[in-house]
Parts: sequence; structure tokens; C-alpha cells
Amino acid sequence: MDLIIRDDSRCGTDTVGPLTLSWAANSDVGRVRESNEDAASARPGKYFVADGMGGHESGEVASETALRALDGVACGGDRTETQTALIDLLSTAQRRIDEIDPDARRRAGTTATGLILVTHEERPHWLVLNIGDSRTYRFADGVLEQVTVDHSQVQEFIDAGFITAEEARTDPRRNVITRALGAGMIEPEADFYSFPAVPGEVLLICTDGLTGELPDAEIEGILTDMPAPKDAVATLIAGAHAFGAHDNVTVVVVAVSDTEADELAEADDVTVDVTNDIAEADEVADDAGGGDDDAGGGADTDGDQTGTADSDSTESGGPEGNSAPSEPATEPAAAEDAPV
Ligand code: MG
Repeated sequence: MDLIIRDDSRCGTDTVGPLTLSWAANSDVGRVRESNEDAASARPGKYFVADGMGGHESGEVASETALRALDGVACGGDRTETQTALIDLLSTAQRRIDEIDPDARRRAGTTATGLILVTHEERPHWLVLNIGDSRTYRFADGVLEQVTVDHSQVQEFIDAGFITAEEARTDPRRNVITRALGAGMIEPEADFYSFPAVPGEVLLICTDGLTGELPDAEIEGILTDMPAPKDAVATLIAGAHAFGAHDNVTVVVVAVSDTEADELAEADDVTVDVTNDIAEADEVADDAGGGDDDAGGGADTDGDQTGTADSDSTESGGPEGNSAPSEPATEPAAAEDAPV
């Protein structure tokens, strides 16, 4: 099955070392836009989303290019080496994206965020990367925590104390991102975060088409009510639709459990080091609505000359107590001990 998930929903179960990763993904065009420039990817131990931008079809190509490049790194490796490999792959992706439509007034670009399972101090850890305003969250013990910090103009205003996170949700400048892959930027500059991968946690990776519609409290409520990835993804997409789905909406949910506990429960499973059993997920009940009333392409024509890019985005709340974005491999989550 192709790596790229777009206008499609999938789910699966991956067994990676001591952990079982149950996941679901959906990348949905939404109710307003004519095409889906978002995409997601899910391979054992690595889950990413990308939100493309650019004229014609270059946004689609850019997001897909980023995800294909990121797939080049293996999961389970040393954390530092994996981070170095990801930085190289992001540079490769940027070169490819720069070649998509070099003469276009609005250059092709994309955000990218997601996570990969790595080994650190002999224990499984997540290594999270982010560039742009898509987000990775961690949900554990009933609490949703935003791991990544947006690279957006409104995030800078929040950091400076000029506006609140709630005001940022409707600020007219919310579409302007300050970092991206491509989009005329010089070199990709991703932030990295890391924390132990522990049974019981749920990871959420999404584009701004979700967070622009649903406040974090709403997302937290949905994950509390339905931690199973397939149900959570369907409900999150339906929730974005209920609020208008003005942008493409892409959501990946990964639930972590203990492989040995799962085996005791199921008893008849064969253990394989790394498996990726992919199944077609149920379509979301809420119909896309076929809205052809395009938003006027406002975000597609903002030729910003100052090193920022317009991401078609709608940005929501700021970080709450997570770590400094520029510090490599910081540990934003409470470090619970993983069973070895
Ligand atoms: Mg978007």
C-alpha cells in the first residue's frame, strides 16, 4: 500500500519491540477547499502529517515529497543518530520541493510534524519533529499536552504577550507561518522533542485544519471519551466538519500499549519484531458536503517577501508549559518509566 494517505482513512496495528502501536489516520479535504494539499503517512513506529502550500497542484506535491523523504529513516535507532538523519532528510526534501515550480510567484512548500520511535538509554522514546504550524500532541492521564510549538506569526505575538492564544484563533494573521519546508525559505529548521514512549499514552498528530476548528479542550474531551484511534480520528474529523472544515483536515492518532500484555489478552498472536497490519478504516460518517464555495484563495496569494509563508492555516491555542522550541530533544512530557 502506498505510503501517502490523502482523501483516505486507514488504521492498523504495529508491533515495535516491547510496544504495540495501534493507529488510525484520515486526511480529509474538508468542506470548503477544492483539493486536499494535506497528507499523512504511517509506517511501523513512524507517523507524520504535512500541510502543503503553493499554486496549482504544487502544495499536494510538496506535502507528499516531505513525507516520502521522512520515510527514509528507520525506526528504533539511536536518538541522536536518528535526529541527524532526519535533519539530512529534511534538507533533501527541501531541495526536491524547491524544484517543483521554481518560477511560481507562490513557491511550493509544506509543514511537517510527527514522531518516530527511537532508542535512548536502552528504552523506547519518541522523537518528535516539527516545522511549521501542524502539531503533535500527547494525551495521557486524561490530559492533552501540545508538544510542538507553532512556527507562526501569531505564536510570536502570543510569546511576546501581545495577544492571547484564544485571540490568535481568530486573528487575521493566523495563516502566516515563519518556518516551512520550501516556500522560498533558505534552509529547513525543524524543532525536535523527545520523551519516553509508555503504554497508555495516545499521540495525536494533526494539521491546522483540525486545531483551527476545534479548541484543545474539545480535542481532549474526544480523546477522553474514545481513546481507540479509529473512533477518535472519525470523531475528530466529524468535529472539524461540524465547525465548517474550512481547511483540509488531517489527523493521525497512535495509542501505545504493552506488547506482552496484549499477547496475554489475545493469546493467539504471533510476535513479529516489526509488523504493520494496515486495514481500511471506516469512512467518517459525516459527509464532506461537496462545498465548492472556495474561500477565495486568500491564503494562496499572499506573496510574503519577508521570509514568512502563508500556510492556509487557522491557528489555535498556544503551548501550555511545554519546552523551549529551539532546544534539541527536550523532554516536554512527564517522564514515566517505560517497562524494559
Ligand atoms: Mg492547513
